[in-house]
Parts: sequence; C-alpha cells; structure tokens
Amino acid sequence: MTNRVSIRTGSEGPRHDPYHFEEIAIICARPHFTGTVTVHLGLGVWLETRVPGRRPIRYSPSGRDPEARVAWAFEALAGISIKTARAIPDRLRERRIRAHACGPQAIGWVDGFPGESLCVCTRCGACFDGTFNRSAVE
Ligand SMILES: [Zn+2]
Repeated sequence: MTNRVSIRTGSEGPRHDPYHFEEIAIICARPHFTGTVTVHLGLGVWLETRVPGRRPIRYSPSGRDPEARVAWAFEALAGISIKTARAIPDRLRERRIRAHACGPQAIGWVDGFPGESLCVCTRCGACFDGTFNRSAVE
C-alpha cells in the first residue's frame, strides 16, 4: 500500500551551468519494505531508502544508464513506476479541488514567498498544493 508521494524540483551543479533535477519521494508500507524511497534524477542520479531506526542507504549506480537502474530499483521497492508516482500528487490534488465546498472556480495558483507558488482557494484560503523553486532565491 502506498501512502504518500512528494515531488521536489530545483537546480544543482555549478551556478554558471545549473542542471535541473527532480526528486520523487514515496512513503511505502509494503510487506517487504516499510519506509521512504527517494529517487533523485538530475546531475546526480541516486536512490535512497530510509527505514525508521536505521541509517539511510543510498544507491548511486555507475556505468551506463543510471536512470534505468534507479527506475528499476524504485519500482521494485515502491511497487509502482516513477511515472505512476509522478502522477499521484496531481490526481490527489484534482480530487480535493473537485470536492472543495467553494467550487473549483475559486481555486488558482498565487505567488507566496519568493520562489514559492501556492494553489489556494481565493474564497476561503484553503491551500491545496505548493511548489518551491529554490533557484529563484539563491
Ligand atoms: Zn474555499
């Protein structure tokens, strides 16, 4: 059973040549794995598992096609593909927006703190989602 997915994006690498990265974290409670799996796709490509009470384990594949290797490991641990995990926050947000009492027309994206965008209801202030672009403030 999959509980929660979070996605973070930003940039890494040298300031004069920044590189986009995407980090997808999923909290899993499955018979053979209970913990958090994080996959990082950018200049660096790695997968990290965190199990409560243990030290995190990071897998940084070397050689050809490291993205395919972490994708395989992610799916083996989380039980879903990276592509499926990517779509989960959007699906949940859409469901919450459709069910919101003020109606979906009142909901839109607004700017928060520098680099931050918030998906809020302009009528009651309920917050549905937020993104943070670190490179906008560094
Ligand atoms: Zn509202």
